[in-house]
Amino acid sequence: MFYSSTRNKDLKVTSAQAIAQGISKDGGLFVPNEIPSLSESELLALCDKSYCDRAFEIFSKYLTDFSDVEIRYCVDGAYNTKNFDTENIMELACLFEGIYMLELWHGPTCAFKDMALQILPYLLTTSIKKHGSDKKVVILVATSGDTGKAALEGFKDVPGTEILVFYPVEGVSPMQKLQMVTQEGENVGVCAIKGNFDDAQTGVKKIFTDLEVAKKLSESGMMFSSANSINWGRLAPQIIYYVSSYVQLVKDEEIKMGEKINVVVPTGNFGNILAAYYAKKMGVPIGKLICASNANNVLTDFINTGVYDRNRDFHTTVSPSMDILISSNLERLLYHMCEDDALIRELFGELSTNGRYEVPDSIKTQLHDEFYAGYTTDEETLATIKSVYDKYSYTMDTHTAVAVKVYYNYVEATGDNTKTVIASTASPYKFSSSVLKAIDRYDADMEEFDLVNVLADASNMPIPQSLASLKEKNVRFDGAVSKEEMLGYIYNALGVN
Ligand SMILES: *Cc1c(COP(=O)(O)O)cnc(C)c1O
Repeated sequence: MFYSSTRNKDLKVTSAQAIAQGISKDGGLFVPNEIPSLSESELLALCDKSYCDRAFEIFSKYLTDFSDVEIRYCVDGAYNTKNFDTENIMELACLFEGIYMLELWHGPTCAFKDMALQILPYLLTTSIKKHGSDKKVVILVATSGDTGKAALEGFKDVPGTEILVFYPVEGVSPMQKLQMVTQEGENVGVCAIKGNFDDAQTGVKKIFTDLEVAKKLSESGMMFSSANSINWGRLAPQIIYYVSSYVQLVKDEEIKMGEKINVVVPTGNFGNILAAYYAKKMGVPIGKLICASNANNVLTDFINTGVYDRNRDFHTTVSPSMDILISSNLERLLYHMCEDDALIRELFGELSTNGRYEVPDSIKTQLHDEFYAGYTTDEETLATIKSVYDKYSYTMDTHTAVAVKVYYNYVEATGDNTKTVIASTASPYKFSSSVLKAIDRYDADMEEFDLVNVLADASNMPIPQSLASLKEKNVRFDGAVSKEEMLGYIYNALGVN
């Protein structure tokens, strides 16, 4: 197996190169030249395995240039009870008959990003070593809130790496911000961007693909890589929990082997749901992929019409990690649906010049077959938190609530009662004030940590230690720069001049 760029089919790199580099020099994303398959007997064999062993099997299919020893080292280093608060790494909570919440927030930063970002430093440093490079890796991250902290925790004090995180000055929750600005570690930097997430992401992508910047860094013994979901090393680990969910449901006798399930994912950058698409294409019996958005509903429109149009107002919502108008990973999906690099170059060229593109009919048909898309308003999101809380005594965060509401809409529209896995992407404690507002327990005079205590009382869920301990930590990073000042900040932080 090899990897090529969505914008240049003829480029062939190994998985280690794809992971080390992060993004292709032509601006495209790395994709596997074929999606490996998982037979029914292989799925059956996974049923009795641990999360680590399932991960080992899946990675072996994608990271074909890694040795077994290397994959073991990565998997065992990441998925253990030192990092996660459950031996299962992820949990499947049955909300009601046939509906399962896939809890992906049992890692150190309480969001699903940990599932990938705990292992990415291992994958990345292993990849770089394989290529005999002795350059220091500089990880640049644009975050809508959760990636930043998860990446900081993953890369903190990892030898040979340096990590710099940019977050939008408005639009992250108080807890998300606190998690980042108090980050410990000798190799970390955090800076606010005066703008929104798309500004941060576009800025980072531009700096990444700037050859002059790369040259300057190289002369100082450094190279860039990415911890955003444009990096294949972020995406591959996310495939595992969809495979793992399926075989777990079989093992728990909730479904029979071969029975189809639907999957609902609260979506922003299209990374998480794309991982579910890969799992489906590998052979996991998945029916519909249900793409749930908030008021930034560019993906809803795209899946329903085939027209991607980012020329619209940007909304700051109660689900900030999904406040995104440019969903990077869509490029990978479209590539797999057409395998036509010239078309991808054309479409994404139009996106960068006009902010809009329309896919051909053959892709529209596939979008309709594979996906259902919907969105919710903030009022609906909060009302859904309340109704699920009242009815099932289950407390969920705002992002997960978007998914649940869109799932309800899907069932109403189609009558499809296939058993369904709903990705639960963050702990409610990361968004305490919104969750408390939803269940009528909010008090505007309270500080963040008082709210956390009220939520503990209301939800009966233990307060994650990693969040509770932030109360005692000092703010280390209080800087903010404009989009234009990002590069200067980076040079300064790295001591490059
Ligand atoms: C990042 C994030 C999302 C969106 O995931 P994508 O892979 O960007 O689509 C949803 N919910 C939470 C809590 C997140 O942190």
